[in-house]
Amino acid sequence: MSKTIPPLGTPKDVALYCTLRRSLRKAPDFLFGRDQIVMLTVPPGYCAEDYDNSAASLIRRLAAERDDMAYVMIAATDKPRVIIKRLTDDYSRRRRVLILRETGAEMPLSASLGIDIEIDLSPISAMDLRIGCRRAYQIAVTHDQACAMLEFPLDHLSAALRRGRPPMDVLHRLESVAAREGKPTKRASASPLLEDMVGYGSAKSWGLELAKDLNDWRSGTLNWSDVDTGIVLSGPPGTGKTQFAAALARQCDVPIIATSLGRWQAHGHLGDLLKAMRGDFNRAKECAPCILFCDELDSFGDRNSFSHDNKDYSIQVVNGFLEHLDGLDGREGVVVIGATNDISRIDPAILRSGRLDRHVAIELPDASDRLAILQQHLGQGLPVGQYSKLITATNGFSGADLAKVARDAKRLARRAKRDIVFDDLLVSLPDLIPITGKHRWSLAVHEAGHVAAVILLAHGVFHGAMIVDHTRNDGATSPGGMASYELPSVAYRTAETYRNQIVVLLAGMAAEEVFFGAIGDGSGAGSKSDLAQATKIATVLQTYMGMGNRLRHSLATEYSDLENLRNIDAAVRAWVDDVLETEFARAKELVRGNRAFVELIANELDATGVVSNAQVEEMRASVVAADEIETAA
Ligand code: ADP
Repeated sequence: MSKTIPPLGTPKDVALYCTLRRSLRKAPDFLFGRDQIVMLTVPPGYCAEDYDNSAASLIRRLAAERDDMAYVMIAATDKPRVIIKRLTDDYSRRRRVLILRETGAEMPLSASLGIDIEIDLSPISAMDLRIGCRRAYQIAVTHDQACAMLEFPLDHLSAALRRGRPPMDVLHRLESVAAREGKPTKRASASPLLEDMVGYGSAKSWGLELAKDLNDWRSGTLNWSDVDTGIVLSGPPGTGKTQFAAALARQCDVPIIATSLGRWQAHGHLGDLLKAMRGDFNRAKECAPCILFCDELDSFGDRNSFSHDNKDYSIQVVNGFLEHLDGLDGREGVVVIGATNDISRIDPAILRSGRLDRHVAIELPDASDRLAILQQHLGQGLPVGQYSKLITATNGFSGADLAKVARDAKRLARRAKRDIVFDDLLVSLPDLIPITGKHRWSLAVHEAGHVAAVILLAHGVFHGAMIVDHTRNDGATSPGGMASYELPSVAYRTAETYRNQIVVLLAGMAAEEVFFGAIGDGSGAGSKSDLAQATKIATVLQTYMGMGNRLRHSLATEYSDLENLRNIDAAVRAWVDDVLETEFARAKELVRGNRAFVELIANELDATGVVSNAQVEEMRASVVAADEIETAA
C-alpha cells in the first residue's frame, strides 16, 4: 500500500526526514498516536535547526489534528531558563511533543522529568542522501558519490547541491573548498554494489527490487508487510552467495550481520546455541533495517529425516530458527538471506510461505559472466582477441576460482613492478592446446548444423555462433562452440515447438553424421550436452506436459528424477527413444537438403571462428538464389 509524503524542499530536508522516520521506529507507541514526549538528540555536527522543515513535515503527517502535536528545538547554547519556558508551554498544550536537542545541550531536571523516550538520531546515510537528491532535485547520485559527499560538512553540501547540477560537479566544488581550507577528504571505498555484479540471474533483480522497496519503506511510503523479506540462495561453493549478501547490503545501504549454524554451535550446548541465535536476530532487529545472512542453511537438516541420537537437539534447533523467522514479536526491518550448497537438505518448513519462501539457484557463471567477473577482479579490461581462449580455459570455474586467477595475476605483475599482461593470467589457468585441422572443421560443421536448423525452422531469433580456438589439456570437457539464439519468453507453444527444439539440439550431431559419416564425442558427453538436453525435453513432453502419447502427469523435472522415471517406466523409455530417433532423422534430412547452406556457415566458422546473424542471412539468400537459377536452367 502506498501513502504520499508532504513535499520537502531540498535533498537535506528529505534526507533528514528519512533519519527522523527511521529513529522514531524505536518509539512505536508515539508513532501510533499515544500521548508521549520523545526527545531526539541530533548527531554531533548537526544543528537542531537543520531539522526544521523535516520535523514540520513529519508532524503534518503524524498529527491527526493541527494542535495535537508540536516540535521544539533545543540548541546547545540555549539557557536552562529558556528551555524550561519553551518546553512547559508545549508540554501543557500538546498531547505529543517531539524535542530536537543538539548534542551538548543541558536539559534542566524539571524538563527531563516529562520525557518518555530518548533516542539518538542517526546521521544522514548514503541512501538517505540518494533518496533526498532524487526526490527533491531529481538528481541520480551513486552510492560511492553519496559516501564521498557525506565526507563534507552538511551546510557545505547543502550549498553545493543544486537542482540539475551533476553529482561530480558538486563533489569538485566541495573538494576545492576543502582544499582551500587545507582539509583532506577521503573517498568512499569502491566495493561493488549489487547493480555492478554479474552471475546472479534472477537473484540480482530480486535484490535490486528489494533495495527500492527498502528505500520506500524507510521514507514511509511502503509498509513492511509489502516488502519481500527473505530468500534462499543455493549453489556450489564459491558461486558468490556470501558476496551477494554483502553487495546487496551495500546497495541497500544497510548493515549486514553474517552468521551460520556453525557459529552458533561454537557457543556450546543447546541452550548456548539458541541464545547465540537469539542474540544475532536481536542484534539485527536493533540495527534494522539490516540484512541477516545465514550461511550453511542445510546444516540445520530436515526434521523429517532425523533418525540419529541427536534428534531432539536438532528438532529444537530448527524450531528455534523457525520461531525467529516468524518473528512472533515482529522482525520488521530485518531481511534474511539463507545460503546452501544443497537445497534438498533444507527442512521444508524453513522454505514455507512467509518464511524463506523464495529460492534462487546460483549456477556456475556462463562464458560472458566469467569474462566480466575476471575483469571486475583485475580492475581492467581483457584483450578481445583472447576471449575465446579465456572462455575455454575458465570453463567450469566459479566466481571464487576466477577471483583467485585475478589475484595470482596481480601478484605476478606486482612482483615484476609492471601492469598486468595476458601471460600473467595464463599462469594460473589450465594448459590449453590449439584446435586445428579436421578437429576444428568438425566443430565448425557441428555448430553450422545448429545454426541451419534454427534458421530453417524459424526457431527463435538467431544472434550468432562461434567455435573455440583451444581446448583444455586437463581432461575436462568444455564446449567446442555455441550457436546463440533466443526464444520468446512468452509464446503459444505446442508439441511442435518442443520437437523443433529437439531438432535444433540434434542438428549438430546430424551435420557431423551427414558430412563425416560419424559423430564426435562432444554431443553426448555431460549433463548439459546436446543429447542430454534433447533427452530431457523428450521425457518432460510425455511425463510433465501431456504432449506425448499419454496424459499421466509426473512432477519430476530434475535431471536425475527424469532419469529414474525412464529407468522404471518402459513406456516412457520407449517413447523417448522414438522421439529422439524421429527428430534425429528429421535433423539429418534438414542438413542433407540444405548441405550447401550448412557448408557456407561451416566455412566461415572454420576461417574466422565466428559467424553473425547478418552473414548467415546473406548466405541463405545466396543459396536460395543459386537454387532458383539451377531450377530455371
Ligand atoms: P559462496 O558463499 O557461494 O561460497 P563467496 O561469496 O564466499 O561464495 O565467494 C568467494 C569469492 O569469490 C568472493 O569473495 C568473490 O571474490 C568471488 N566471487 C564469487 N562469485 C562472484 C561473482 N558473481 N562476481 C564477482 N566475484 C565473485
